Amino acid sequence: MPTSTLALAPVTPLVAAPTGDEGTAPVLRYHRCGWCGSATGRAALLCPICGSSELEEQASTGTGIVHRLLTPRHRQYTDGETICLVVMEEGFTVQASLDDALPGTVPEGTRVRLASPAPHTHLPVFRAA
Ligand SMILES: [Zn+2]
Repeated sequence: MPTSTLALAPVTPLVAAPTGDEGTAPVLRYHRCGWCGSATGRAALLCPICGSSELEEQASTGTGIVHRLLTPRHRQYTDGETICLVVMEEGFTVQASLDDALPGTVPEGTRVRLASPAPHTHLPVFRAA
């Protein structure tokens, strides 16, 4: 592991330092209902389908399909961010920011994967898989 990039960094202990893996893989968490089995991406106390409180937090595989682009194409340049809905493999939907190098190049139906968080958005970031 090259350490030259750390030369100018302040000497503070890193609590969550990467442990030699390919960086720290981003994880998207969701809730799976123990009663009806439906999945929800929201932080919920009760299942939105059946109202059960037996929600179990699970980690998503991080892959899904772009279901709908919420930022109109003509505004993708000006807004600097493409918001979309992603239907995850587990069956829940999340609002996400699309990491498209050129706006409009990731159409609806594209298979996407969770990417590292970006500073310009609070949404989970996805890019074409
Ligand atoms: Zn349920």
